[in-house]
Amino acid sequence: MKICRTASSLKTWRRKLKSSLGFVPTMGALHEGHLSLIRKAKKECEEVAVSIFVNPTQFGPKEDFDSYPRQEARDLSLLKQEKVSLVFIPKSRLEIYPRGEEGFRVQAPTKLASILEGRFRPHFFHGVTDVVLRLFELTRPDRAYFGEKDYQQLCVIRAMVEDLFLPVQIRSCPTLREASGLAMSSRNAYLRDEQRAKAAELFHCIRSESSVAKALSRLSAHSFRVDYLEVWDNRLENKLSHAKGRWLVAATFDQVRLIDNVDRSK
Ligand code: AMP
Repeated sequence: MKICRTASSLKTWRRKLKSSLGFVPTMGALHEGHLSLIRKAKKECEEVAVSIFVNPTQFGPKEDFDSYPRQEARDLSLLKQEKVSLVFIPKSRLEIYPRGEEGFRVQAPTKLASILEGRFRPHFFHGVTDVVLRLFELTRPDRAYFGEKDYQQLCVIRAMVEDLFLPVQIRSCPTLREASGLAMSSRNAYLRDEQRAKAAELFHCIRSESSVAKALSRLSAHSFRVDYLEVWDNRLENKLSHAKGRWLVAATFDQVRLIDNVDRSK
């Protein structure tokens, strides 16, 4: 497994590569959800590259950038076991943002970036598109893999690829869950075991309640503070006023902010 810590070494590796390349961008603190993306990429591509970069531009000033879990040695050993070809783990943010604060910035389209998650984290999708476009340029993958766990992010990336004619195929992967139903997430590390079991209520609510109003009152009874709980069509173009659609939620439980979504359109 090759480990690249600079953009130039990654570009050199890429230039020499003739086989098909799958790419899985991550922020590290890897779990089975990430590994499921890598395994799908391994099935579909001859070589797989993974990036680990906690991207500062997608965090707001009061968010958890400094405390976000970082477990480099453990991540690298997991990736070695998965037999990935290359890991890009930049030695500094300048490898990705060479001009620092003064550099060019990619902006996500206003509407997609300001609904749902964007209403509460207005910087978030601009930061995500900015970093993913740069990572695509550096890695030039044939296919890139994203989890449905971050459903709006998946839609924003698809829109960017369509809108900018990027020569990469976006592949989506289902959400991996703990036995309780809680969606796996690096941020689950902030929860103790008994909190994790209780946090699974978020998933059970959006999976089974017959209306948003009922789901909201059940969540508040279980001490969740809900940012949003909405039902949309699967392209996130229209918000729906009935239950047959994709349910998306963000809520804080015991000071940990969780997001989840379930497709109930069928
Ligand atoms: P992150 O490291 O949180 O930025 O996630 C990297 C990628 O893994 C994103 O495409 C996520 O959607 C995906 N991912 C995170 N958690 C899960 C999960 N529980 N199941 C499937 N994919 C996931």
